[in-house]
Amino acid sequence: MTAVVAGRLPEILSVLRTTALEVGRDPTTVQLIAVSKRQPAAAISAASALGQIAFGENYLQEALAKQSALAGRALEWHFIGRLQSNKTAEVAANFDWVHTVDRARTAERLNNQRPVTRGPLNVLVQVNVSGEASKGGVEPAALEELVEKIAMLPRLRLRGLMALPAPSADFEQQRKPFSMLRALAEQCSVPLKHLSMGTSDDFRAAIHEGATLVRLGTAVFGPRIA
Ligand SMILES: *Cc1c(COP(=O)(O)O)cnc(C)c1O
Repeated sequence: MTAVVAGRLPEILSVLRTTALEVGRDPTTVQLIAVSKRQPAAAISAASALGQIAFGENYLQEALAKQSALAGRALEWHFIGRLQSNKTAEVAANFDWVHTVDRARTAERLNNQRPVTRGPLNVLVQVNVSGEASKGGVEPAALEELVEKIAMLPRLRLRGLMALPAPSADFEQQRKPFSMLRALAEQCSVPLKHLSMGTSDDFRAAIHEGATLVRLGTAVFGPRIA
């Protein structure tokens, strides 16, 4: 496992850097979130030994087990999964960032449940940019109202927007929802510096459209364990 991660992480970091430079962006403005869902703690450990700090997890119980196995390492944990209301307390207590806030009620729960011993929780609002009924994310028309509410919550720090558009094999098609997310962030009355967008299959298009946080799983760690 160590060998696999050691093989891919430096290469991926170099591809991210090259892609940013190609579009005239400062490579330090594109941060890798290594998505470690359904990967063992040993894979995270190996990536962290190579300097990777930020890890993304989707499933709470799985994430908590890995966090306790890796306790003592200075890692940054990003929750990128569907957020059910019965999970918000543990997410608020154990993560540094949440990428999938899409309703005021969830934001209020996270705000109320963020332990006072920790700084404000960094949050991103997930937007449904591809109009799929099954997808999480606030509808673009309801975004402004939601970000205004979240900006008022003292235990949350609103950092930007996130999207997980429908997959497409075509580069120009991939760019459209990312471009839309960027435009939405620019239109909001609240400053939204970060754009969490791009997975292993479409991160190049996302970086072209201004992604600051790219969430890569299989490109870093290889296939997930079933
Ligand atoms: C799993 C997941 C990713 C990473 O997907 P890969 O195809 O493995 O890069 C990114 N974002 C979210 C929200 C995910 O659930």
